[in-house]
Amino acid sequence: MFFLSPVMNLQKLIKPNLILYKPIWFLTADLIKQYGLRGLILDVDDTLLGNNELEVCPEVRQWLEDMRPICQISLVSNNFSHSRIQAIAAKLNLPFRSRAAKPSRRAVREALTIMDLPASQVGMVGDRILTDTLVGNRLGMFTILIQPPYEDTSWLGGRSQVVRNWESWLIKSEIKS
Ligand SMILES: [Mg+2]
Repeated sequence: MFFLSPVMNLQKLIKPNLILYKPIWFLTADLIKQYGLRGLILDVDDTLLGNNELEVCPEVRQWLEDMRPICQISLVSNNFSHSRIQAIAAKLNLPFRSRAAKPSRRAVREALTIMDLPASQVGMVGDRILTDTLVGNRLGMFTILIQPPYEDTSWLGGRSQVVRNWESWLIKSEIKS
């Protein structure tokens, strides 16, 4: 029905191409090859590290080293602290953008332009469907939803888990319908 089409479009836009239910380092080289990806644009907070941490864990560091030879990597974060994202990107020796305002397309599109790859060959990897998955799908990228690299038991972490559970419910209800 015509009047339902905006809702149906939104459901399509929030559905990741791949849901890992695991941290980012389970996105293996085999999966990258299987889906024909040549680039990855990564969210930072709760994707590579907790949002009050400055160092990635050894698993993430090793995963980045494994990925570097097989695909281009860029960071695109919504974090308003440019200095925080800059410091993390410098340690990892990766190009970055902060204050991206995902699901706005501007910053991710800029990162794609620099990669000079078709959007369909670039994975948009993040922990949130309403920012990371949505922007990736809007740009025709291959969207990958992952879990944060840690178990957050803080009050604030609990709150973001509530949002994440609600987002998972949205995806599941979309898959059923
Ligand atoms: Mg995030």
